[in-house]
Amino acid sequence: MSDENKRAAEIPPEQLSLKSKFKFSCHKGVKCFTDCCRGIDIMLTPYDILTMRKKLDLTSEEFLSVFTTPQMLEKADMPVVTLKLLDDERKSCPFVEDKEGCAIYQDRPTTCRYYPLGVGSLSYSGEQGEKDEFFFTVKEAHCRGFEEDKEWSVAEWREDQGVDLRDEVNEGWLDLMVRKKSLPPSMKLSEESKKMFFMVCYNIDKFKDFVFKSSFLDRYELPEEKIQEIRNDDVKLLQFGFQWLKAMFFQAGQEKFTVKESKES
Ligand code: SF4
Ligand code: SF4
Repeated sequence: MSDENKRAAEIPPEQLSLKSKFKFSCHKGVKCFTDCCRGIDIMLTPYDILTMRKKLDLTSEEFLSVFTTPQMLEKADMPVVTLKLLDDERKSCPFVEDKEGCAIYQDRPTTCRYYPLGVGSLSYSGEQGEKDEFFFTVKEAHCRGFEEDKEWSVAEWREDQGVDLRDEVNEGWLDLMVRKKSLPPSMKLSEESKKMFFMVCYNIDKFKDFVFKSSFLDRYELPEEKIQEIRNDDVKLLQFGFQWLKAMFFQAGQEKFTVKESKES
């Protein structure tokens, strides 16, 4: 981190609400165009992987092996994946093109959409649907976008960048992370549970096979409409997976997963 960036990091960011305004614009004319797509750490959300692998016409397994690096989120002790950067001098994102910018712009990850906003939470209770979020601007020294005149409210930026939809789909994933993080450090998930979490959240094709090609559907009383819905819609399947993990790991929402009575008893 440069001295300028270090000094900026020491100043606590101003908390913004959805109505707060900030000036920013990013376009091909800025001197720093694509600078922020190098040497970065981009955590991918489950929905990012769904859309990126579709755009690239890859299975989720292929996408994970070519474009991601598995990591452990230290505080939550949960697996996450980050975008694998190229091994070039500037550690570039594999999708950045010097003149044109992002080659997968319509399907770029949530982190790239949020910038230059960060999001924080004063308290979070996904189960009750209560979130006490605040926002802040992340002002990196090299970013010239703050010198532009275009003004946005936080809400306008979020809508323009499509983060509202992404946050809605990823909410169950975030809820699992927050729940795990709030447990005492001694309460750990087993390695098997972490593998299950990884499969549901990041390897949707494998999870689909797990649901439809194993004894999974013989175990639970699920309405036929739900089965059809998750068979035909990967977003619904992903959200179903988050609910299932929540019931398995935290015994929350278990009524959605009633175990079928054994025919022998
Ligand atoms: S995915 Fe696109 S916007 Fe995000 S870092 Fe890579 S090139 Fe930049
Ligand atoms: S550094 Fe800022 S202005 Fe420059 S390309 Fe990145 S987001 Fe846009």
